[in-house]
Amino acid sequence: AKRSGRGTVRVFDASMDEGIRVRREIEAGLSQAIARDELSLAYQPIVARGSLDIVGFEALVRWSTPERGAISPAIFIPLAEESTLIHDLGDWILDHALAELQHWPGQYVSVNFSPIQFRRSHFVGHVMESVRRAGVEPQRVQIEITETAIFDDAEHAAQTLCELRKLGFRIALDDFGTGYSSLYNIRKFALDCLKIDRSFIDGMGRERESAAIVHSIIHLGRALGLGVIAEGVETESQAQALRVAGASHLQGYLFSKPVPATEARKLAELKFLT
Ligand code: C2E
Ligand code: CA
Ligand code: CA
Ligand code: CA
Repeated sequence: AKRSGRGTVRVFDASMDEGIRVRREIEAGLSQAIARDELSLAYQPIVARGSLDIVGFEALVRWSTPERGAISPAIFIPLAEESTLIHDLGDWILDHALAELQHWPGQYVSVNFSPIQFRRSHFVGHVMESVRRAGVEPQRVQIEITETAIFDDAEHAAQTLCELRKLGFRIALDDFGTGYSSLYNIRKFALDCLKIDRSFIDGMGRERESAAIVHSIIHLGRALGLGVIAEGVETESQAQALRVAGASHLQGYLFSKPVPATEARKLAELKFLT
C-alpha cells in the first residue's frame, strides 16, 4: 500500500510541477503581452429583443501569443487577478474599448471589470479619468460587474454604483444567478440591467429548472424596472422563448460571435441583425 501510495504522490508531483510551470510561463508572458502587442478586444453585439437593433457591444479581451496561440480569458484573467497585473490589463481594456466608440454611430460599449478593479480605492475617479481622456459620454459606457464584486462589501459597493450611475454610466450585473446574491439585496444597488448567465440559457430547452430560473430572473428584473440581457443565445427557439418570457435584450452566437473591431464597425453601421 505504501509503495503504491508513493507512486501516486510522484505522479501527482510531476503533473503539479507541469501545472505550475505552465502557469508561471503564462504569468510571465501576460506581463509582457501589452508591450508585445499581443492583446486585442473582440466585440459582441447586444440586440434589442423586438427590432434586433444593435444597441451595444460587449468588449471581450483576446490574447494570442506566437508560442501558445490563443489563450482564453477564462484562464488568464484569473491569473492576472492574483497579482497587480489585473490593473494594467484592466486599464488597457478600458482605454481601447472607449477609443472604439468613435467608430460607432451611437451604440454603447459594455466593459467587464474584475471585482478587484471594482474594489480598488478611487475606482470611480479612475474610470472617469479614462472617460474624460477618451472624450466619450458615460452614457455610452456600460460597466459589467459580477455578484462577487458587490456582495463581499455591499455597503461600499452600493455607494460606488450609486456614484457611477449619477455620472451617467450604465451598470449591468453579469452572470446573474450563479452567485449568492439574495433577490432581496438586489434592490439596494443602482443597476440598469441583469445579465442572465449563459448556463441557464443553455439549459432552458432541456431542464425545467433552468427554464424556471430564466423566467424568475426576467420577472424579477421587470418588477424592479431593470433591463434583462440574455447571453449565450445560440438557437432560434431559445431566442423565441426569451422574447415571449420578456427579456429586453439578447446576445449570443445566434446573432454574432465576438468579432474583431473592424468587423464590429461594419455591424454598428448596419445597426440591425436579422
Ligand atoms: P462573460 O463576461 O460571461 O462573457 C461571455 C462569454 O461567453 C464570452 O467568452 C463570450 O465569447 C461567450 N459567448 C457569447 N455568446 C456565446 C454563445 O452563444 N455561446 C457560447 N458557447 N459562448 C458565448 P470569453 O470571451 O471566452 O470570455 C470568458 C470570460 O472571461 C468572460 O465571461 C469574462 O468573465 C472574462 N473576460 C473576458 N473578457 C474580459 C475583460 O475584458 N475583462 C475582464 N475582467 N474579464 C473578461
Ligand atoms: Ca460579461
Ligand atoms: Ca456573463
Ligand atoms: Ca460568464
